[in-house]
Amino acid sequence: MRCEVCGRKIHGAPIRALIEGAKLTVCIECSKHGRIIQEEDEQRVPKKPLTPVPFVQRKKPTQAKVDTTQEIVERYDSKIRQAREKLGLSHEELGKKINEKASLLSKLETGKMTPNNQLVTKLEHVLKIKLLVPIKEEKISQGFPKSPNRGTTLGDLIQLNKRGEEENEERKQS
Ligand SMILES: [Zn+2]
Repeated sequence: MRCEVCGRKIHGAPIRALIEGAKLTVCIECSKHGRIIQEEDEQRVPKKPLTPVPFVQRKKPTQAKVDTTQEIVERYDSKIRQAREKLGLSHEELGKKINEKASLLSKLETGKMTPNNQLVTKLEHVLKIKLLVPIKEEKISQGFPKSPNRGTTLGDLIQLNKRGEEENEERKQS
C-alpha cells in the first residue's frame, strides 16, 4: 500500500483522507494536508443502544382459585350419576366428552374415587351441575384432592406416557 500523494510506502494502517476534494489513501504525513476521513466510524452508524426490553415473563400463578375456598360436594357421586342420566349419556359417552375413561366415571359415581379439580371442572361444565361448594368448616386439608396445578414433573410425564399407552388402545376405536 503506497501513499497516493507522496508515493511512499505506508507504514502501519493507511489513512483515508480528504485532500482537495479527493478521497485518498495516504500516509500519516500527507494526511495532515487534508481531513482524515474516519470511514470506519461513518460506516458504523452509531446504533441505538438496544433498549433493554424487560424480559420478565410474569406468569400469573395458574392456581385455580377454587382450590382453597371450595370443596367438592359430599354427594358428588350421585350428583354426577343423576346429571349424566338426565342427559342420557352413558359412561362411555360422557367419558368421550371429557376425555376420560368410562371406568373412571363409574368409580366416581360409586364414590370410589374423588375427582381432582380439573375433572370436577370438566364435569361441572359438561353436566351443568355444581360440584364445588364453598368450604364452610376448616377441612381444607381433609381429603380434598391434590391440586392438579402444581406443574408437571418428570414423574408425571412418565406416568402420563404409561397411561397414554393404555388409553391409545381404547382410542383406536374412535
Ligand atoms: Zn504521503
